[in-house]
Amino acid sequence: MGFCKRVICFIFTAMSVKITDLGFTYQDGEAFRFPNVEVEKGQSLLITGPSGSGKSTLLHIMAGFLTPKEGDVRIDSQSIYQLSESARDAFRGEQIGMIFQQHHFVRALSALDNVLLAWIATGRKPDEKMAKEILSDLGLSSKFHEKPQNMSQGEQQRLSIARAMVKKPAVVLADEPTSSLDDANAESVGKLLIDLTQNHNVALVVVTHDQRLKDIFPRSVSLANAKMNSL
Ligand code: ADP
Ligand code: MG
Repeated sequence: MGFCKRVICFIFTAMSVKITDLGFTYQDGEAFRFPNVEVEKGQSLLITGPSGSGKSTLLHIMAGFLTPKEGDVRIDSQSIYQLSESARDAFRGEQIGMIFQQHHFVRALSALDNVLLAWIATGRKPDEKMAKEILSDLGLSSKFHEKPQNMSQGEQQRLSIARAMVKKPAVVLADEPTSSLDDANAESVGKLLIDLTQNHNVALVVVTHDQRLKDIFPRSVSLANAKMNSL
């Protein structure tokens, strides 16, 4: 009985993203020591800090783009820096959805096709029905065939959320997703992100200096003390 309980406990507490003892230095010597963080599927975490505090650096380490000097990043129990670079790229394509302030949409393609493109990195067959469902959940049902550059900033941000969520990744990482939005759009995008995180059972990490999100997210961590003189 005790054993079964432990197994059940293990299944339900499996962390989707976990960073431990992360230290990083840029070549010019700028150094960071990041707080330990764990986020389960269906949960969200806000990481705050002023400009230059290392938010984007941390997100790029979590996405497997920047190799830490010390510590570990685990996504779905996989230690991503144990993977070869090409295996890490494939893992990222499959398991990590990214949302940036600059969206990098393909201008020649419709909103729907930009979302379908997200499947290419996974090698899986695009699921048009699911793409339309997510776009509709985000209030974009009338924009399937619109070009991204003809959409408002708030609509473009929702499109980039659809693109990140649609391949059902383990983790969604968002860098300043609301900083270019007005108050009403910032609040609605923040709430949509949290709702989708629960509905799609992904782990969400948002880094931002946008104070407006603090009241919306249930949990937050500050990077105010991450910068070091050296490691
Ligand atoms: P934030 O996203 O919180 O504004 P960043 O992670 O972008 O902060 O940057 C943190 C610090 O690291 C800044 O002082 C920045 O100048 C420095 N930095 C960022 N990218 C590089 C780089 N490629 N090379 C050297 N230093 C960098
Ligand atoms: Mg940044």
